[in-house]
Formats: sequence, C-alpha cells, structure tokens
Amino acid sequence: MSASPPSPTATAVDAHAVKPILPGGVIGVMGDGQLGRMLGLAARRMGYGFVVFGPEADSPASHVADHQIIADYADRDALTRFARSVDVITLEFENVPAQAAMHCATITPVRPGPDVLHLKQDRLREKNWLLQRDLPVPEFRAVSSIDDLRAAARQLGTPLMLKRASWGYDGKGQVRITDPSELNEAWEQIQAPAIAEVLVPFACEISVLVARGLNGNIAIYEPVWNRHRNQILDLSLMPAPVDAAVKTQAVAVAQQVIEALGMVGLLCVEFFVTAEGQVLINELAPRVHNSGHLTIEACVTSQFEQQLRAVCGLPLGHTTLIQPAAMANLLGDVWHWDADGSASSPAARPALPAPPNWAAALTSAAVKLHLYGKAEPRRGRKMGHLTALASDAQVAADLVQAARQAL
Ligand code: AMP
Repeated sequence: MSASPPSPTATAVDAHAVKPILPGGVIGVMGDGQLGRMLGLAARRMGYGFVVFGPEADSPASHVADHQIIADYADRDALTRFARSVDVITLEFENVPAQAAMHCATITPVRPGPDVLHLKQDRLREKNWLLQRDLPVPEFRAVSSIDDLRAAARQLGTPLMLKRASWGYDGKGQVRITDPSELNEAWEQIQAPAIAEVLVPFACEISVLVARGLNGNIAIYEPVWNRHRNQILDLSLMPAPVDAAVKTQAVAVAQQVIEALGMVGLLCVEFFVTAEGQVLINELAPRVHNSGHLTIEACVTSQFEQQLRAVCGLPLGHTTLIQPAAMANLLGDVWHWDADGSASSPAARPALPAPPNWAAALTSAAVKLHLYGKAEPRRGRKMGHLTALASDAQVAADLVQAARQAL
C-alpha cells in the first residue's frame, strides 16, 4: 500500500488543469448505488457521457450509464481503464477506498480529492479535524478497549453512542448505551477502534447542502429538516421549520467546513439542533445526500446537477427554493411482506414480497415517485423516495406520508 493522503487543507489545489469539462465530456462515478443513478440522470440531461465504476452488476447507477466497469476497488487495472475513459471522476459513496481514488487521481482529476475521503473514512479523524477547527461537535472520546469505554462513560456519563470509527453509515456499527451496566455488551458488539459520544437530546436534526466550485465559489441551499427512523432517514422538509438564528448558524458552520476542507463538489453537513438552539455537527458527507433528494423538484439547481457543475469546473447553479417541499424515503419495508408473492415467481427462485400499490400512491397529482431500480427489496434497504411540493413544507410532508401510507 502506498502512503496515506495528507489531511485536507484550505490551500489544497487541484493538481489538474482548471479548464471546464463541457457537455460532451465524460463523467466517471465511483460507486454504483442510487446516488450514482441520480447523478447519471443529471449528467445525461446535460449531455455528458457517464461511466460507473463499482462491484455490482445490474446496479442502480449502471442502468443510466453509458458503460459500467464491474470490478473491485482494489483492481488497479480496472481503475486505470476507468480513469482513462473519463474526463473527471466523482464519488457517490465515501467508503470507496482512498487508495483507489488516489490511483485514479494520478490519471484523471478526482473531485472531491482522496484527502477528503481519507478524512471522512474514520469518525475519529473527522471529529478531531472538526474539533481542531473549533467547529461544534458533541463531546466524544476515542475508544479502543473496554477500559477506554469505561473511562469514557465515567467522564461523559450515560447515555452514550458507541460508534465504530470506520465503515459506518445509516446507524450501522453503532450501539446505544443507556446504562453503565451495558458497557461490556456494547464493547462485545463493536470490538474495533471507535468513538464514544454523548447521546444528544436534540430538538431536531437538520442538514445543510453546500457546494464549492473549482474557482472557490460557494453555493448553499436552505437547511433541510430531517427525521430518522431506526437511524435511517425517513422524512425531509425544505425549508426547515426552525428559527432563523438556527439556520444562520448552520449555514455559517457548513460554509466554514467546506472552506476548511478546500474541497470541490457537494458536501452535506448533518446537524443536531439542541433545545437551546445550538447546532452540533453529527457528520459530514462529501457527496450528494439523501436529505437533498427533494432539490430535484424543489430547487432551481438540484444537488446532483450542482455536484456535476462543481466537479466539471462550471459556474455553480442557483440554489433558490422554488416551492416548499417534502421527501419520504421508501424502504423495502413498504413491500407487502405478509402477502404471498410466490405465485408469480418461478419455483426455483425465492418468493419476493408483493410490490407496493404504486397506483394508489400516485393518485395525488402533487406526488413524484423515484425508484432506484433495485430488483430485490429488503427491509431497511433504500428502494426509492416520494417528493411533493406544496404551499407549505408541512402540507408537502402530509402529502408524501399519505401517499406512502397508501402503498
Ligand atoms: P449517523 O450514522 O452517525 O449519522 O447516525 C444516524 C442517526 O442516529 C442520526 O441521524 C441520529 O438520529 C442518531 N444519532 C447518531 N448519533 C447520535 C448522538 N450522538 N446523539 C443522538 N442521536 C444520534
């Protein structure tokens, strides 16, 4: 393995030429999920070619790509072929190994750069980086043994969240500790470098999408209000129904973060908002984000187009909200698991649950359906989402939730 990428700094410079990549050029994306798919749809609309690199055949992003390279992220030859076939590379998934991104960056610009990925791939590195810059984060301790965890519980008290430092998303690799008697069991489940973090009694969660172009220009969206269920995003509203002072704080922090990272592309900063109106950063996602899906319909420039504009060196688009909006995620749970779907399945294949009643959900003329083309529904798996625009974000939320209920 070669050396780790350096930590990002505000002075990080894209080593490649700053000539814009215009429509007709080819965008490569590392990662083949739904975020890649929606990036691909935006790329196609703008007249770009689109190549996907990822390990899965028949993946959501591959359906809208000109070409997919199906390979492991450790496959140097495949990475070289991929990097040579595109004009710029971006990412839809922050767990792409930083070494793979570094390899590609020797051939083609990778935006955001491997340094940002490297920072993001370790919660402890990320939290320390934020803390060193006086950016607001919940109190935490580094933990790499049961003794560390006991010490953290003595210092921070309980309840706590114990989170694996690496390879976690959507609440994976996290254990909630409500009482000191649960420390041993929690450590048994994690058994890896981790952080112990106070459980924030938040009033709500919000996120801010912010983009930075190649020339350092910044474009920021209205904060989004988010509700999670089982640590997975369930519902988003834009504009966020929070005080103007909270929004001002969150927007200022998001801008500080992207400037300190010096990254090119779209960043989502997720926040907890306390009862006192203080914002604390939960985590950074240096990519398009689930809470930004409603920008497709609700904003002048969607988060997907914005990411492409940023990485192609184009001027950033307006982030103006056209109309209040809400988005409800559709997990595999909305399939009919109790119905017998086996009648329509060949005997050799395992029975799939019956599909949701799409027609019922679409009776509301305001509701837009997005499906990600995943053949196999699973509980907790993100299969699609619903968006609605309305005179008020709460009215839009009622519309998408009623449509989801009708499924
Ligand atoms: P994460 O994967 O870290 O973004 O966590 C997913 C969700 O779990 C968050 O959006 C919160 O709803 C919840 N969560 C994670 N960490 C904390 C914390 N320290 N305090 C309260 N809730 C948390």
